[in-house]
Parts: sequence; C-alpha cells; structure tokens
Amino acid sequence: MPREPSPDIHADRIAALNDAEEKADGAYVLYVMEASMRSRMNHALELAAQHANRLGKRLLVLYPLVGDTFGAHRRQKHFMLQGVGPLRDKLTARRIRFAVVEGGMAETALRYAEDACRVVLDAGYLRDHRAWRDEVGNEAEVPVEEVESDVVVPVGTASDKKEHAARTIRPKIHKRLDDFLVALEPTELEKDATTMGIPDDEVDLSSDAKIGEALDRLGFGEGGVPPVPLFRGGEDAGEEMLERFLSTANGVYSDHRNQPQTDDVSHMSKYLHFGNLSPIRIALAARDKLSGDDRDDFLEELIVRRELTHNFVHFEEDYDKFSQLPAFARETLDEHRDDEREHVYTRQQLEDADTHDPYWNAAQRELVHTGYMHNYMRMYWGKKILEWTNTPEYGFETTLYLNNKYFLDGRDPNSFANVAWVYGQHDRGWTEREIFGKVRYMNRNGLERKAKPKAYVEKVDRLVEEAEQRRVG
Ligand SMILES: Cc1cc2nc3c(=O)[nH]c(=O)nc-3n(C[C@H](O)[C@H](O)[C@H](O)COP(=O)(O)OP(=O)(O)OC[C@H]3O[C@@H](n4cnc5c(N)ncnc54)[C@H](O)[C@@H]3O)c2cc1C
Repeated sequence: MPREPSPDIHADRIAALNDAEEKADGAYVLYVMEASMRSRMNHALELAAQHANRLGKRLLVLYPLVGDTFGAHRRQKHFMLQGVGPLRDKLTARRIRFAVVEGGMAETALRYAEDACRVVLDAGYLRDHRAWRDEVGNEAEVPVEEVESDVVVPVGTASDKKEHAARTIRPKIHKRLDDFLVALEPTELEKDATTMGIPDDEVDLSSDAKIGEALDRLGFGEGGVPPVPLFRGGEDAGEEMLERFLSTANGVYSDHRNQPQTDDVSHMSKYLHFGNLSPIRIALAARDKLSGDDRDDFLEELIVRRELTHNFVHFEEDYDKFSQLPAFARETLDEHRDDEREHVYTRQQLEDADTHDPYWNAAQRELVHTGYMHNYMRMYWGKKILEWTNTPEYGFETTLYLNNKYFLDGRDPNSFANVAWVYGQHDRGWTEREIFGKVRYMNRNGLERKAKPKAYVEKVDRLVEEAEQRRVG
C-alpha cells in the first residue's frame, strides 16, 4: 500500500475500503468529512494531509449537506452547522480547501472522487453511516480509506466480539491505552489549496441566520424540534466547555455525576457526537488536569463506557431492536408482561411530560427544552418508561424515539446501547419484582434518598425559563 502515515496514526485506525489504484494525475486528495467535524486531533484529516504532501497535491475537505440525515431534526442540524464557520477558518489557515455543498453523502463523495488521487473518510458506526461509506468504497475508482478517530482504541482492536459488559471490555481497552492514547500533531500542508475552484455552489453557513435559511431550504422548517439556545455547537464551543469542566471538576465530578440537581459534569457528549472534539484530546486533558476518583471515574465513562457502546453497535446488527436484548431480559420481561401497572401512559402523554411524577416530568422537560439530561435522571427516566408503558416492546421503542428526537447527543452509539441498558443490556439479573422481572429497577424513594430531586425540579424550572427567554430574545 502506498502510504506511510506518521507514527501517531496507528495502522489499526485505517481500513482500506477497496483495492483501487492510486490516481497519480488526480487534482487533489479528498477527505469527505462527516463524523470527525474538527480541525484538531483528527486522524482522517491528518492522514489526508500526509497523502497530499506525499503526492505533491492539494487537500480538499468536502462536507456534504444532506436534507434527511438519518433522523436528525432541526435542533441537531442547527447545533451541527454552528461548527462549520469556525472550522472553515481553521482549515483555510492551514491551506486546506474546505467546501460545504448540498447533496447526498455517497453521491457527492463519488462525484468528487472522480478527480481525486485518493479518498479518505472518517469512521461511521451506525447502519446508515456504514452504508454510504461502503457504497463509496465499492464504487470509487480510486483508493478509499476509512479512519477511526472518534474512539481512543479502534473498535476491532479493542475486541473481536460483542462484549457482555464494561467489566469484560475494560481490561482489553486498558491493555491498549499506551498505544492509542497518543496526541496527534497537525501536518503542515505543502501546497495551498484555498483558491481551488469546485463545480458546485457552496452553502453559506457563516451565521445563525444563514444556517436557518439553509435549514429552511433543506426542509427542516416549521413543526420540527427547534434548536436549543443554551448550547452552541462546534469545536471552539466544545473547547470552552471542556475548559470550564476541567477547571471546576476536581473534588466534585465523582460525587456529583449522581447528583442531577448539580451541573458538574462535562457536557462533552454532544461535542463527541458531532466529532467537534477528539476523545483523545479530552482524555489527555483530563488525565493532566484532574486527579484521584474524579479523574478515574471521568476516564472510565469517557473511554470504557463510551467505547463499550461502539463495540455494541459494531457487533450487533440489530442494535436498535428489542429482539437483540439478552435472553434473560427478554424472558423475564415476557413473564411479567401481564403484571398490573399502576400507571400506564401513551407516548404522547410521556412526550408532553404529563405524568403523576414531578421528577420524571422535570427530566422530560429538561430533555425537550435543553436537549440534555443529567445521566442519573436519564437512568430514572428510562426505567420509568419501562414501568409505565403497556408492553416492554412499546416502552423500548418509545424511549428510543424520545431519546433520538430531542437529545443533542441522540442517534449515537451511546443512545442505542444505553436505551438497551435500561432493558438489561450490559447488565446482570437482579432480585425479581413486578413488571421488571429480573431487570434492574429504580424507584422514586431511591432517587429521594440518594439525590435531591426537588432541587433538580427547581434547576429544570430555571433552565426552561432561561431557554424560553433566550428564544424570545
Ligand atoms: C436511558 C439513557 C439514555 C442515554 N442516551 C444517550 C445518548 O443519546 N447519547 C449519549 O451520548 N449518551 C447517552 N446516555 C449516556 C449518558 O447519560 C450521557 O453520555 C451523559 O449523561 C452525557 O453527559 P456528559 O457529557 O456531561 O457526561 P459526563 O459524566 O461528563 O461523562 C463524560 C463522557 O463519558 C461518556 N459517558 C458518560 N456516561 C456514559 C454512559 N452511561 N455510557 C456511555 N458513555 C458514557 C460520554 O461520552 C460523556 O460525554 C444515556 C444514558 C441513559 C441511561
């Protein structure tokens, strides 16, 4: 293979999607960006830059803008596109040509691949994300490589099978950390590509107003889930959030990650979801700035728990289906399907936060109005949907529906694995009880004993008010 990436791009991160010949007379090296939407510590970007220098070519980074992206609503799209303007500035400063054009992922990538020497893609893990990459690999007439930059340890390197739980994947990941938890330096581009012309019109996303116009044109108009004013997307916003977290987390993270009335968590999940920050960048900074349990617990969540979810969607084709749950969970939920339920709600009642439980309603309001929910409340929220819906299957589908519709970090490997966790995935059997059978149970008394849910309700009231005021303004 005609490549020798720098040693900080481990060969295990790179998968060849075809065996086509490099086209020496191509006009540029093409990187089609989707998952790793950032300029810093992006292995796909740096590999493409190294190819461009080796071939004496310019580097074109293409960001196709698609109407229907795999279930995204206006909320998620808006957050995502807020990152484009600053990213353009950063890549231009590195002599890279960055272009946003309207069109489907595979179709646009293949059109631009025709004039390319070779193509680099970042890695996708969910069904639709894998499908367009495979299509590009199968149909392009130049080499196509996929580069895993959004996990610390590449999924196939960490394990060769679907793991049972965090305890089974943890030692495998820890064993490889020294090889993969390694900073990545930018490659200086020898050829300036910034004035290169391209055949399509480019989409102007330089302000929130322009983003709004583009979304209207793409059909993300009235009636969809609106953007949230409390969080801003993009690499710079993610860096600011990381800085805020690292300067305040020592002495509180470990304790407060189970205290939903506080806000001492990192808020990194949305920036990780859109690839605005590298997990390696976050982990190295956390290792440096945090200490003791705060550091260890944060790295456990960021690396082990998060990468378990990537293992899950990679090895489990039916990651979004009830039928893939562990046998013990399906059997025990089935045995208890006719148990009497004190409360039964429809999907609409749940979506409207219209239940008897003020804590649950606050969690649902936090989700709808802010696109976020504290981890401890996500667990309670999910478990109660299981308890209050008429069948486990309907509960499972409703949880995924609400999760992926409203969360900024929804539609992620983390979403599917964690909703499945509510139903017994990556968990063991517990003492048998009504409705849940042997699946882990959470109740209101436990929430009141372990946290301060009344203060959480007040926190959500404040957040909702702030979100409303900012929207009006
Ligand atoms: C029912 C349910 C649904 C969930 N849905 C999603 C989702 O759609 N998207 C999503 O990203 N996360 C989801 N999670 C996992 C977790 O709640 C969020 O990742 C976390 O709350 C995000 O906030 P943070 O970045 O401030 O987390 P922090 O506590 O600061 O954690 C740091 C990072 O570690 C990772 N992490 C934390 N908790 C988990 C976990 N339980 N599993 C895997 N990785 C974790 C995340 O990448 C997170 O950004 C869900 C959990 C549950 C129980």
